[in-house]
Amino acid sequence: MEASLTYARAQDASDELRDYRKQFYFPSTGEVYFLGNSLGLQPVGAKAMVDRIVDSWKSYAIHGYGEGETAWLTYPNRFKQPLGALVGALPHEVAVMNSLTVNLHLLLASFYRPQPGRRKLLMEAGAFPSDQYAIESQIKAHGLTPEEALIEVSPRPGEKCIREGDLLRIIAEQGDSLALVLIGGVNYYTGQYFDLQTITRAVHENGALAGYDLAHAIGNLPMKLHDWDVDFAVWCSYKYLNGGPGAIGGLYIHERFGMDPTVPRLAGWSGSDLKTRFQMPKTFTPEPGADGWMLSIPPGLALAGLEASLELFHNAGMNRLREKSLRLTGYLEYLLDTIQNATFEIITPRDPEERGAQLSLFFPKGAKPIHTALSDVGITTDYREPGVIRIAPAPLYNNFEDVYRLYEAFHALTKKIPNNH
Ligand SMILES: *Cc1c(COP(=O)(O)O)cnc(C)c1O
Repeated sequence: MEASLTYARAQDASDELRDYRKQFYFPSTGEVYFLGNSLGLQPVGAKAMVDRIVDSWKSYAIHGYGEGETAWLTYPNRFKQPLGALVGALPHEVAVMNSLTVNLHLLLASFYRPQPGRRKLLMEAGAFPSDQYAIESQIKAHGLTPEEALIEVSPRPGEKCIREGDLLRIIAEQGDSLALVLIGGVNYYTGQYFDLQTITRAVHENGALAGYDLAHAIGNLPMKLHDWDVDFAVWCSYKYLNGGPGAIGGLYIHERFGMDPTVPRLAGWSGSDLKTRFQMPKTFTPEPGADGWMLSIPPGLALAGLEASLELFHNAGMNRLREKSLRLTGYLEYLLDTIQNATFEIITPRDPEERGAQLSLFFPKGAKPIHTALSDVGITTDYREPGVIRIAPAPLYNNFEDVYRLYEAFHALTKKIPNNH
């Protein structure tokens, strides 16, 4: 690799996925955008998809539930195959509904069912706050306290990432007391990606369940949830999936639960068996599969925003995207490593297998001014407390030149800012 614009452009010229960039709108300010892990860009095709629903609402009114290309009642079905392909699940194991935190609550209601002697929930320390709040409130809803039921696994003193060996050891130590392990597939702060297959196996050996928050993993890394025997997962669709602000969320439920109508759940009419739903029966009979967790009638407009992007993912293919992502993030790492006397530390794992399209830079001091200065020269990155700038080169629309531009700006800035800042 080489720290030069010529090299970066040559990489772009030979990139078979380079034209996908043209399928997205970049912000009108012309900035270089590295926030695909917070809010993905708008696909050029998204508006037409939303317009289609607006038009069918206009032309069909109530009949739109069953008529037209996008009959709203069955509209969610068309998302099952492409989302299933992204997470490695059977179509009936996947459903689109609600938003991430709502789905997390729904699945905790089903799969965190503490019993005397087996009531512990294990999560990573420093998880995304919404996950922390959801989990603690669920524990309290069971009449327990986080002190007695919650185990948070931390990095070792002086380290930023959790060692997988520590996680596995703590899971094993918990033995029969463990009810559920729930962690972020990719940690939002460090960018660490966990080996979900190994963790799931260890959890199952203890007779507990394994669920994952894939907010930062879906559309970022290829996964095989079904083959890995993962019990359940949730995600949002506005980060790497580019579904638009607050886009419809999704979930995965392994078919051994999905096809079992006796699995307890919080029910709503849209999760009831479609064959009898409109006979308005008093008794709830779930629709088989993940759809049996739906509560409300599908929100056509929210679904439409996601459709264009999933088509792009389908055409590009998650494996090809991952290959490009490894090279793109690898190039970013290479460039940052060339900076002499750096005032930051890359806290994302150095092993590409343990990360996705993100590097997190930790600054013991002065991260905020650097983040602002980058923004002032048109490079959009993310700042997270404490002291971290997150950079996510999304392989669908970022390119090597973007990465080089960031490095150039960053290099100039870090030279200006003295070491002892
Ligand atoms: C982005 C994100 C969320 C957001 O949840 P919403 O319910 O969609 O607002 C939750 N958890 C994690 C880990 C996230 O990264």
